[in-house]
Amino acid sequence: MNNGQSNRCDYDLVIVGGGITGTGLLYMLCRYSTLKRILLVEKYQDVGRVNSARTHNSQTLHFGDIETNYTLEKATKVNQTAVMIKHYVEEEKRAGRRDNLFSKYNKMVLAVGPEQVVELSKRYEEFKQLFPRLQKIDRQRILELEPLVVKGRDEDEELLALSTDEGYTIDFQNLAHSFVENALASNSDAKMLFNTKIVEIIPVTSGGYCLRSNEGNAITARTVVVSTGGHSLMMAQKLGHGCEYSLLSVAGSFYWAPHVLNGKVYTLQNKKLPFAAIHGDPEVHNAKETRFGPTAKAIPFLERRNWSSFFDYIQSCGLNFASILALFKILSDKTIFTYIFKNFLYDLPFIGKRLFIKEVRKIIPTLKLKELIYAKGMGGTRPQIVNTRTRKLELGEAKVMGENIIFNITPSPGASNALGNAYNDSIKIMEFFKGEFTLDKESIEKDLIKK
Ligand SMILES: Cc1cc2nc3c(=O)[nH]c(=O)nc-3n(C[C@H](O)[C@H](O)[C@H](O)COP(=O)(O)OP(=O)(O)OC[C@H]3O[C@@H](n4cnc5c(N)ncnc54)[C@H](O)[C@@H]3O)c2cc1C
Repeated sequence: MNNGQSNRCDYDLVIVGGGITGTGLLYMLCRYSTLKRILLVEKYQDVGRVNSARTHNSQTLHFGDIETNYTLEKATKVNQTAVMIKHYVEEEKRAGRRDNLFSKYNKMVLAVGPEQVVELSKRYEEFKQLFPRLQKIDRQRILELEPLVVKGRDEDEELLALSTDEGYTIDFQNLAHSFVENALASNSDAKMLFNTKIVEIIPVTSGGYCLRSNEGNAITARTVVVSTGGHSLMMAQKLGHGCEYSLLSVAGSFYWAPHVLNGKVYTLQNKKLPFAAIHGDPEVHNAKETRFGPTAKAIPFLERRNWSSFFDYIQSCGLNFASILALFKILSDKTIFTYIFKNFLYDLPFIGKRLFIKEVRKIIPTLKLKELIYAKGMGGTRPQIVNTRTRKLELGEAKVMGENIIFNITPSPGASNALGNAYNDSIKIMEFFKGEFTLDKESIEKDLIKK
């Protein structure tokens, strides 16, 4: 990149999207790099309002220890990035800057019946080295930690759990605020632009990009990172990138219950499904409220409760033969179809709760129907990535690269990976600038990775 271009562009980097991904990158670069002229553009009046909102996700910091659909390889990767968030939030608390970022509860994955018990025991042997704090616990210990998980079960029903005290429950919305606060404190040249929606990204022939907003503004940038959840794919495809992907937008809803759990209790995952298994856990700021969910309902919107995102979904889905065929193949899988259909019913009034309670009773057998309340207005949507070449659903996030531009598409565990993803993006951005700016990897390692 030539230096003359630096003077012609308004910013060296524009980040589009102020969720946990965009704000995490803003923090990483402002705190640890020499890149200064950075702008973050967000369409709402504040950060963390969509899938990173406190009410819209499960608040779990996913390390890969109790997520039984992760392979050892996937868990190793997820663990490396989740610890960065753990170190960040612990340090914010220790330094007295913020004590509203997380709560720490116990966390377990529960096996019920002989088949699940064998499966979980095997998993423990494979994963115990990676997660030394993970313990295999028997019925008696489960009873001590979570009495209502055991109450009401047959005496001879086999139970086993893998349990850890590392049940970090994160308020990702407050975390996004904390990232911005610390970013701006480290770099006074960085700027935020709210209430501004980027509607078009146009490559400029002399290098860089021109970003047009709904307000009619044109912002020029030498490099761009688009972290707008599912919208990132739509923007990538408009520039001819990521055309091998499509999306299945999978909304997740929650149900409230009174205080029935002391910590997080997950059920065993179906390995065919890339969504988190239904679990129960205390709310991040109120241990007396238990949430169950999330459900997994396919919706034709990129942003939940934003009807105009229907048209965006249609665009990112790519109304082409390959995409329709891939979605058809995925949804015609019996397991996936049955799961999605059942989950669609969970959101319906009257009948939904009566069906969902069967799932909840796998965790709390004695829960009464009247104790379960649909959490209205809660839960976002996960842009699950469909690979139109393999015609398969992919687990986790995707990154699409163009020339001096990155697009992040972030289903779960995207929030847990926010700092790891920001680190990877920061390395790529340094490559874009070919040595003009530097990234202090040593301090990142010391502060966030190898603490
Ligand atoms: C039900 C559910 C449960 C989940 N549970 C977990 C969990 O327990 N743990 C976990 O790690 N992850 C979880 N996730 C996933 C996690 O919530 C997301 O991966 C994460 O929040 C994504 O963050 P993001 O910043 O990439 O996207 P978002 O938080 O969606 O932010 C995108 C931002 O971009 C902005 N934007 C969009 N378009 C434009 C535009 N054109 N111009 C300007 N701004 C724009 C939006 O307003 C928004 O602020 C869950 C998700 C759901 C739905």
